[in-house]
Amino acid sequence: MLDFGLKDLIDIFLVAIFLFFGYKLMKKSRSVNIFYGVLVFISIWILVSKVLEMKLLGGILDQLVNVGAIAIIILFQEEIRHFFYTIGTHERVNRLWRFFKPKVNNSFEEDYRYDRETIMPILMACLNMSKQKTGALIVMQNDLPLGDFIRTGERIDAKISQRLIENIFFKNSPLHDGAMIISGGQVTAASCILPISHDLDIPKEFGLRHRAARGISKETDALAIVVSEETGGITASYNNEYLPHMDAERLERVLMKGKF
Ligand code: ATP
Ligand code: MG
Repeated sequence: MLDFGLKDLIDIFLVAIFLFFGYKLMKKSRSVNIFYGVLVFISIWILVSKVLEMKLLGGILDQLVNVGAIAIIILFQEEIRHFFYTIGTHERVNRLWRFFKPKVNNSFEEDYRYDRETIMPILMACLNMSKQKTGALIVMQNDLPLGDFIRTGERIDAKISQRLIENIFFKNSPLHDGAMIISGGQVTAASCILPISHDLDIPKEFGLRHRAARGISKETDALAIVVSEETGGITASYNNEYLPHMDAERLERVLMKGKF
């Protein structure tokens, strides 16, 4: 019934590696319980169908496993999307992409996406809003276009200026709710609705504004900056991670890079 060779051991080892990376991918999200469920099901299937060789129950489970691949794709839609997306936006692919793109300015330091003049009004506005505890959410578009999110807000297409940013987030301004999106060196839109992150590891004191920043940084390669209305604290979010307690220097560097 059970006879194991070297080939089987290698086989099991490869499956273990596959499961390990699957687990790592799922761990960050709510899907880890579904992952455990799938593991339990596969264990029962192996026991019934392969080890005990039960014909009837094994046959039924075999059929379920056959459609399982499609079920798994449906269940892990979001994770699979994110997985392929992160492959596509991986640093090396980006480098390659930049290599083929015409260089705008050769003397410009490769690591910096924006020059100081572009980000200075954003930096000053964030520091000022932080001092005054004005809540703000600013998204800086990187390689991936944010059209889907721009459409949910109010189109502005204006030159980036400190006064404009502060004015938009001023408490009684009609556009203060939601996110401002900056792209192509302009304030493109305000009052935009971003996807909310449901990750469980987000600190309790972070509400929807912070979750929206995390959400957009998970779904796209954008950088999001949050100024907290409650604490005045500045938090950056990129690639589904937070960088809290930003001071002027760190914020300047992160804004110029468009990432961290
Ligand atoms: P703060 O520290 O400023 O209180 P917070 O993380 O606790 O921030 P909330 O207090 O829930 O967040 O902030 C609510 C504000 O967040 C809303 O008024 C709105 O401007 C913004 N917001 C909420 N949901 C979204 C969303 N989906 N997209 C963009 N902005 C959002
Ligand atoms: Mg709050």
